[in-house]
Formats: sequence, C-alpha cells, structure tokens
Amino acid sequence: MRAHGKVLPEHARGHNRSLVLQTLFHEGTMSRADLSRGTGLTRVTISDLVAELISDGFVLEKGVRESSGGPGKPAILVDLARDEHQIIGMDLSGSSPFTGAVLNLDGEVLVRREVPEPASGDADAALALVIRLARELVAAATRPVLGVGVGSPGVVGADGGVLTAPNYGWADVPLRDVLSAELGLPVVVANDANAAVLAECTLGAAEGDCMLVKIGLGVGAGLIIGGEPVIGRHFAAGEIGHVTVGTDGGPPCVCGRDGCLEAWVAVPGLRRRISDSGDRDTVLRDAGERLGIALAPIVGALDLPEVTLSGPRDLLEGPFADSALETLRHRTLAQFHDGVRVRMTEHGSDIVLRGAAVMVLSERLGVS
Ligand SMILES: [Zn+2]
Repeated sequence: MRAHGKVLPEHARGHNRSLVLQTLFHEGTMSRADLSRGTGLTRVTISDLVAELISDGFVLEKGVRESSGGPGKPAILVDLARDEHQIIGMDLSGSSPFTGAVLNLDGEVLVRREVPEPASGDADAALALVIRLARELVAAATRPVLGVGVGSPGVVGADGGVLTAPNYGWADVPLRDVLSAELGLPVVVANDANAAVLAECTLGAAEGDCMLVKIGLGVGAGLIIGGEPVIGRHFAAGEIGHVTVGTDGGPPCVCGRDGCLEAWVAVPGLRRRISDSGDRDTVLRDAGERLGIALAPIVGALDLPEVTLSGPRDLLEGPFADSALETLRHRTLAQFHDGVRVRMTEHGSDIVLRGAAVMVLSERLGVS
C-alpha cells in the first residue's frame, strides 16, 4: 500500500523521474515537448530530468524529428536507453532445468543459460545451483546489470524469502538476501505465476485487470487488479491449485485429497491420463471443464474480461481451452460475461523470465 502524507521534494523528484521513464517505456521515441504533454510536467522539469537520465545512462537522444516544414528548429527526440543496461531474469518453476537469461530493458532475451535441476528435496543443493546460475548470467552480461529478478515456485514473502517450495525442500529460505549478498546486486523474488502475470500485463496484450493461470508441474495464478498485483494476507493469492473442483471426487492429489484443480489439470497427470485412456479429447475436455468451474466464481467476483493461460500449447490449445471457455460462459451471467475470453499467452516459455525482468524494471526504475 502506498504511504500517504506529505510528499517530500526528493520523493516528488523520484516520482517524476519514474513518470518520464514509464512514458518512454510504453510510448517510445518522442521529443521533450511531447514528454511534457504526456506527463503533465513543465518543460523546465522535463529538460532537467531528461538531462539527469541521459547522464545516468537511462535515456538517449535519437536525432531530430523529420521536419514537417513548419517554422522553428526541428525537435530532438529522446527514448529509453533500452540496451545500455541489462537485467538478469531467472525461472525456477519449470519441469526442465533452472533457466535464466540476460534481457534488455524491453524484456528481450539476449543470452540464455541453464543448470540441471537438483535432486528433489535437497534444499542446499538447489540453492547452490541457483547461485551458480545467477553468477554465470551476471558474467554473461555485456552492460551494467540493473538487477536480478527471480520467479520461484511456492509462496514468496514480502522480503523476497521463499516461505515454502516443497519441490526443492525450501522452507523459509531468504533467497533475495542470499542472492543479493552473493552478487552485490539488487534482487527481486516473486512467485512464478505472479512474475508471469507482470509480463502479460506490462509487456503483453493484456490491459487493466489481468489473470494468468500457469499450468505446469503445478497450477497457480497471478492477478493484477486495478493495476496492482494481488498478494494476499499470507502471500498466497492465486494459489488455486488445491481448490477442490466439484463434489464428485476426482484424481488423487499430492496434498492427500481428491479432485483438486491441480490433480485435474497439472501437466504430468494430464499426459499420464491421456496415455492411459487413449482418448485425448475427452481427457482434455474434462480437465478444461474443471478449470472453467474453478474460474467462474473468480471471473464473476472480479468482472474479468479474459483469462490468459500459460503452459504447453499442445495440451492447452484446442479442446482444453475450448471446454474451459464454454464452462466459464455457461456458469457466469451472460449479460456481463458472454464476451469473456480464454487465450494463450504470447510469451511462450519465456514468460517467467520476462516477468522477472519487469519486476526489476518496476523496483529500480518505477516502470510498470
Ligand atoms: Zn491438492
């Protein structure tokens, strides 16, 4: 929550600096006069801030605008210096190895690295591998590193500590502080689905309120409502994987109960049931229906225009998503939700890496 009270001049300056960076990030190249109009700041303030941002290496002059034949000298254009700093993004959520990337400020992947995933449950070995990957990425960067963003499975606290990530045997691992001490760089850690929804909302097609459901080894969701990430009382907002769907049982879940959303739609179980039954369409349609049942009250309560899915396209596109959408429409009020959409993210498997970069942009530059 934002602190209220008197705004000190130094805070106002930081806020205005972020406003300039935010405007350039989303709108691209423009003149100082355009920036003044776009931000509502005076020309003098803009000149001053742009000079400071150029000297810090965050803004570049990009030549002059093609003359429109009018009077006066042509305007000098400025833009965010998208390639002068780099960001390290790490994705610890996959069923594959730990992956990481060096990205530019646009969230474009420049270099990739991976390390093998640790033996299940060996907490120290997992942490050592994360540190090794982070070091390799920092070494691979070719520009000053703005910071390191990490998308981790499990529940992540406000201080960037992983409260629990059972796959790696992590309980109360102060991941942000450990990495920051090892690397000497600012580090931001968030749950993988919360990182992913930031990529969708900031770098993607989604606008305003966003919900992203990430389907992999487990199932989690990230939510941004009114432009603010939803975190929750126990930092567990979006943890919909162990919500029971229906009253008719269902596949057994790792948590000990039957019919959790995760038991219906997580990737390993889906692939196993397809292979066991041989009836791919029915398995996928049944799983999609369960997702639709779980999503309907969320869409109804929050009045969401769409839900984005992230996960293997070969499973989620087609019968699965179609069935989820039909169920969702059938179970919500047509007057409001007949136009609701269920679509795949366009970020593919880089979504957590790109979301991790957005976390750093937001933390360091105030861009979101
Ligand atoms: Zn469960």
